[in-house]
Amino acid sequence: MLFKELASYYEKLEAVSSRLTMIDIMSELLKKAKPDEIRNVVYITQGILAPPSEGVEFGMAEKMVEESIAISTGFTKEEVEKEYKKTGDMGIAAQNIKVKSRLKRISSKEFTVNEVYDTMRKIAATSGSGSKDIKVKLLASLITASTPLETKYIVKYPLDELRLGVGDATVIEALSIVATGDRKLKAALEHAYNLNTDLGAIAEAAAKGGEKVVSSGFGLTLFKPVRPELAERLPTAEEILEKMGGKAAVDQKYDGFRVQVHKKGDKVKLFSRRLEDTTSMYPDLVEAVQKEIHADSAILDGEALAYNEATNEFLPFQATIQRKRKHGLEKKIEEMPLKLFAFDLMYLDGKDMMNEPYHKRREELEKLLKNGKTIVTAGSIIAKTPKELEDYFQSSIEAGLEGIIAKDLNSTYVAGARKFSWIKLKRSYRGELSDTLDLVIVGFYLGRGMRREFGFGGLLCATYNEKRDMFETVSRIGSGFTEKQMVELESVLGKIKSKSKPARVDALVEPDFWVTPRYVVTIRADEITKSPMHTCGREGDVGYALRFPRLVGENGAIRKDKSVEEATTTKEVIEMYRQQKRVSLGNAAEK
Ligand code: AMP
Repeated sequence: MLFKELASYYEKLEAVSSRLTMIDIMSELLKKAKPDEIRNVVYITQGILAPPSEGVEFGMAEKMVEESIAISTGFTKEEVEKEYKKTGDMGIAAQNIKVKSRLKRISSKEFTVNEVYDTMRKIAATSGSGSKDIKVKLLASLITASTPLETKYIVKYPLDELRLGVGDATVIEALSIVATGDRKLKAALEHAYNLNTDLGAIAEAAAKGGEKVVSSGFGLTLFKPVRPELAERLPTAEEILEKMGGKAAVDQKYDGFRVQVHKKGDKVKLFSRRLEDTTSMYPDLVEAVQKEIHADSAILDGEALAYNEATNEFLPFQATIQRKRKHGLEKKIEEMPLKLFAFDLMYLDGKDMMNEPYHKRREELEKLLKNGKTIVTAGSIIAKTPKELEDYFQSSIEAGLEGIIAKDLNSTYVAGARKFSWIKLKRSYRGELSDTLDLVIVGFYLGRGMRREFGFGGLLCATYNEKRDMFETVSRIGSGFTEKQMVELESVLGKIKSKSKPARVDALVEPDFWVTPRYVVTIRADEITKSPMHTCGREGDVGYALRFPRLVGENGAIRKDKSVEEATTTKEVIEMYRQQKRVSLGNAAEK
């Protein structure tokens, strides 16, 4: 397939606003790609070179891309910069300039998708002294041979600005249609994707081997991260126990960051909740795994947290998060040693444990970590009555923790899903809405009055509707921003703003600028109310909205650890509304 063809599909995808049409276009595109091209088509569409765990980055800054455009068109860097400022979009700037290129196309070479991808891999692989020039020239060589439309996407890809609006769920549905003619392979593809997060490899397998390969070829693999299991929520100990059949394991809930540990012999890898390889950030944890985990091979799940041995205190999330910074790592390790609270075991000495019942996995985990110092098992009890659960919850709160997570003793490890086999109970749910929501930014407003100088006056935020794979607006957020956060938001959102509504956004209100769903912010509100303005959970003429929403976040406005598909879902908001209503009725009854 020529890159030219791919570019014209991307142009079509950008123009549509219905998800069903998007699936149709995507399946047509995937059908056209040859089996040895489909992997790269999927990666490019996802805007990546390889799955996140492989950590392959382009390493091209805007300035370098501007230089490539200049070299390949005969324009000066200043002229390119000017066009970029005018359009606010490097891809469109490059496309406009290419139309007026002052250099003749010397060769009639037309690049295939695989050739473009291979050159992009070369760009990523070039590092060290002098690499900047080589990267710039490699990108310029692609632009030189491209049409203006191809140029647009060739420039956007390394800048992570493709913004096609195609989510992984859309690619999966399209793949199923290509392989079987309908959606029947969707579940198997999702399952494969949860265990092996390489959608390109899965697409290739589906194209080459069809149904069978997908259902049997992608099992749990050491050093490939599994999509983590997530928790549902319920408001009371009674309801949690009832849902779990009268008896449950109850874990303490630690507010740190998720770590998935893979180990074989002395080789160790750590992955984040977003499946990035974070091994080099936590050398203290790597050493602890080598010293304390006496198994030849293992995969375990846990939460890491800064802990003060001297005072026996957990440090709050804001302190823990500082360990994520790359600078001054050694000093930080000393000041803030981490403890890993392991709570699940997916693999042990060559055996896949994911389908074992939870109580069995926990038993093995406890044996494995018997003498752990840095790596310990998460505090846990078995509760048979609501009182036992409630007491443990209270004592966890007193110890400075967030709450508890109850676990169904007989459930398997459900990768990538939010199911009732894990149910969280947090400090909140007890009056005002003190639990926060992680919302997706879909638009922003310009500043008025005092705020005008920032060019930023607030956000339009949305929940994620998993069923529809759409983002539904739930609130406009105008307060809680510090000046620094406003500057950050203006600069980040300015780069991805557009005048038209992105395809996967469902909205009735119109912000000054739309933005592609890419960033998540944490919002606190007083209450969830019904409102005719928003599309979140809309039935008839009413949806859900937030009362008195404000931004929370002390380290920058944007949550870099959450992808948009991990934001609070519409279903959760409806559930929170239901619980809040009951809590206030409960309060009234008490009075
Ligand atoms: P939330 O982010 O509020 O949906 O809560 C789920 C998160 O809590 C998980 O993704 C983990 O990072 C974290 N967590 C902390 N302690 C535990 C535990 N004992 N079991 C499972 N998850 C935990």
